[in-house]
Amino acid sequence: MPIHILPAEIASQIAAGEVIERPASVVKELVENALDAGATKITITIQEAGKSLVQVSDNGSGIPAEELSLAVERHATSKLREAADLFRIASLGFRGEALASIGSVSRLTMTSRQASSPAGARIRVEGGSAGKVETTAAPFGTLVQVEELFFNVPARLKFLKHDSTERNQIDHLATRYALAYPQVSISLSQESRSVLQTSGNGERREVLAFMLGPDIARRMLAIDFQDENLRVSGYISPIAVTRSNRRGMVFFVNGRPVQDPALSAAVLKGFQTLLMVGRFPIAVIFIEIPAEEVDVNVHPTKDEVRFKEPERVFKSVQNAVRRGLLAHNPVPDLGPAWRWEPGVRPSLPGWDWRTSQEIGATPESGLPAYSSGADSATQPAQLQPEFAATRMPLLRLVGQIANAYLVAEAPDGLYLVDQHAAHERVLFERFVSQAAEAIPAQALLQPSSVELEPPAARILEQQLPTLKKLGFSVEPFGPHTFLVRAVPSLLQNLDPAEALRVLVEDFEEDESPLQEQAESRIIARVCKRAAVKAGQPLSSEEGRSLLSDLEACRSPRTCPHGRPTMIYLSVDLLERQFGRRGAR
Ligand code: ADP
Ligand code: MG
Repeated sequence: MPIHILPAEIASQIAAGEVIERPASVVKELVENALDAGATKITITIQEAGKSLVQVSDNGSGIPAEELSLAVERHATSKLREAADLFRIASLGFRGEALASIGSVSRLTMTSRQASSPAGARIRVEGGSAGKVETTAAPFGTLVQVEELFFNVPARLKFLKHDSTERNQIDHLATRYALAYPQVSISLSQESRSVLQTSGNGERREVLAFMLGPDIARRMLAIDFQDENLRVSGYISPIAVTRSNRRGMVFFVNGRPVQDPALSAAVLKGFQTLLMVGRFPIAVIFIEIPAEEVDVNVHPTKDEVRFKEPERVFKSVQNAVRRGLLAHNPVPDLGPAWRWEPGVRPSLPGWDWRTSQEIGATPESGLPAYSSGADSATQPAQLQPEFAATRMPLLRLVGQIANAYLVAEAPDGLYLVDQHAAHERVLFERFVSQAAEAIPAQALLQPSSVELEPPAARILEQQLPTLKKLGFSVEPFGPHTFLVRAVPSLLQNLDPAEALRVLVEDFEEDESPLQEQAESRIIARVCKRAAVKAGQPLSSEEGRSLLSDLEACRSPRTCPHGRPTMIYLSVDLLERQFGRRGAR
């Protein structure tokens, strides 16, 4: 094909793809425009997860009728005049491409009226071609309706996630703007159901309650830290409130929601040693910094920024968090609760934890190499044949060390078994084998009610059938509250509220939890919570039954998450280590 200039229509669709990836991007751009227009009231209406309708109305400045057709053109903006302005941007928009982009991939109608005008004006853009501006009756402000998003780019439509995921994205987005602009009343309704409704009274905790539920919102710790012209303020969770993922951490730079892993890392640093491995805080962090110290023109979606002095910003965030925590609760001594991390092994004096690869062992040395994260199916071939075939020899319990590991003897050497990982494996295999038929459920004597954060509650609601399949009987009970009537019998020991929270966290993390695969991941997760913890003394009776349960497993050597359940020290290796046989 010879080189040719793309037709304007295709070029604009390509450009639009950078800005408008999904319905939430439309919401973002329209809300930003409303905020830039000084609105004090913004109403967002969503139908079919934004695929059939995204509508945003505001009571802001409005657009003069004669500028309406310009507003929907590419690179048309009222927020930027010269290149130098790019380095002192005070508005959320500046690229002048949002409306044009949206108009090129949907049917867009924009109606606007300035306070000084006797009537409003309306323009329609369909798949990139704009109609004439018409005069119409309209209230002050602007109304933008975006219908049939991606009707002319079917490939995009196919890439959209499950409706519930798209809806969650929109919820999350609207909530973030509501947090950043508590003095603006923002309401969001999805499928005719009100999801968010802030009063605009400037109270951020009110908005937090929508995000986290009233209970956690109340417990969030306020932080405020000033370093010359840099201010870091906001809210962090007390150490008792954690999540399983990083999504509870949100950041704003000069009122703009931004994503930056380095900022999350700074918050985590502030929490260092106070949280268990794998747990994350909730944090809503506002960074205010002079506009010329930050470049917002990094990405078309404007959700990344570059700081002139990143180190200073990250340090301040870390300090703000640390000081906030110290001010609110003196650091408790949690003790060294050791958890597995790739590449980290506990230091017990006298033990050599190196794997066979590190020691340079040959297959003959009989030391199986446990590589972290590997699942039993992909275990290296260095395993001794009989070890692989019998899966696990019969073990004789010798004792427990550090209240965490069982020491066991086998004819061919010594085994150290991680009691938590081993129990996880046992529970997991039982659960999975029961799941083939019906998982026996155990009715609770006293139904337990659990209040969840509103977004989590919505997720849970959609997943009730899956839960039922797993042996939970859960029913809605009030707006964000659920009643747990039964739990899988295997998990009787687990607090039902705790179990439910773990499940929702998993759904949050894995956006399409309905898939088969996800089901087993959920099971793995619940088993992790239900399994006996490190630090718990086990009687010899308990130790022995755990070992024999583990022997009965199909893949006894790893936990469901792929960590080793046991470390093996062969007699051969011991002999070498003691210098009885050749040099190591
Ligand atoms: P940008 O926001 O980057 O300037 P947009 O394409 O989003 O680009 O909007 C183009 C222009 O249309 C804006 O600069 C602004 O002047 C006007 N505009 C868009 N939405 C609104 C609104 N809700 N109220 C007032 N003016 C608006
Ligand atoms: Mg804009």
